[in-house]
Amino acid sequence: MSQLNTSRREFARGLTFLGAAAWAAPVLAQPGAGGPIDAAVKAAYEKFKDLNEGKNADYIPALAKVPSNYFGIAVVTPQGKAYTAGDIAPTFSIQSISKVFTMALVFQQSGEDTVEDAVGVDATGQVFNSIVAIEQFRGKEMNPLVNPGAIATTGTVKGANADDIWAKILGIHSDFAGRQLSVNQEVYKSESDTNQRNRAISMLMSAYERFPTDPAQAVDLYTRQCSIAVDAKDLGVMAATLANGGKNPVTGKQVVESRHVPRILAVMATAGLYDDSGKWLFHTGLPGKSGVGGGLIAVSPGKFGIGTFSPPLDAAGNSLRGQRAIAAISDALGGNPYASKPL
Ligand code: GLN
Repeated sequence: MSQLNTSRREFARGLTFLGAAAWAAPVLAQPGAGGPIDAAVKAAYEKFKDLNEGKNADYIPALAKVPSNYFGIAVVTPQGKAYTAGDIAPTFSIQSISKVFTMALVFQQSGEDTVEDAVGVDATGQVFNSIVAIEQFRGKEMNPLVNPGAIATTGTVKGANADDIWAKILGIHSDFAGRQLSVNQEVYKSESDTNQRNRAISMLMSAYERFPTDPAQAVDLYTRQCSIAVDAKDLGVMAATLANGGKNPVTGKQVVESRHVPRILAVMATAGLYDDSGKWLFHTGLPGKSGVGGGLIAVSPGKFGIGTFSPPLDAAGNSLRGQRAIAAISDALGGNPYASKPL
């Protein structure tokens, strides 16, 4: 994680919170009880709740203060049933998991080819905030799930002005979660004060003429999207929406057209867990996405979505307990989409 430990410098700036337009009343998933999913969730919680490895991210100072012992799991089915264990109530910043939903917005607004051609969909093979990767590829082939490609993807969202673009970004996150989400202002301020590296990334992309719009505006919107507050169940519903052809199984809203879902999941499989994505896929077969706030999602298409929350991260920046819990639950439920039985 050495590249995560960027130097911190106070950078005073005015912060504005732009709330989204009024949103339909939330409909909550009914908790499921009993049965194999419930048993798998409870077993994974018990097995890993005392695992005491890894460390909170601290290059964004506000993340270091989140209690490391929080551990929550939510599995949500395409029928909209939620099976949960542990710390489901605390909210935390979504961080890089937001990259998936902003990419989905750009797929929807501008088409998949725009992302493939303008940003790229191959893995960089480098850590998520690598500047080396930009130099190596001259700003091309920056996957939308690592910072250079993600900030460019945020910069590609269409809207009349910054407020309108933000409303669309927050709107799609809220639609995926099935409730109105908002920004954790403390995290937003903390990351805005310390995101020199992301500002450098966007400027370097711009220097290679690989940046669509104003880099400073895109970094600000990107920082805000990373600060959206979610709980583990929100992540479960967001993942389940992807497991259910882009239709939120709780609200019934078609959030993104079904035809985009296979490619959203393909990009997640390629780079969702940064430079450990291959290892993750090798063990689980599940498209996933992690965030340095401790969130993790994984999708078993047609079967379930999982969201977990546990702040301590491994060296690649992925939640340790989250990875273990999801792998165990998916194993118990036969969630690996590559598995088939011979006739
Ligand atoms: N906002 C964080 C950053 O840009 C997100 C990183 C992450 O979750 N991997 O550094």
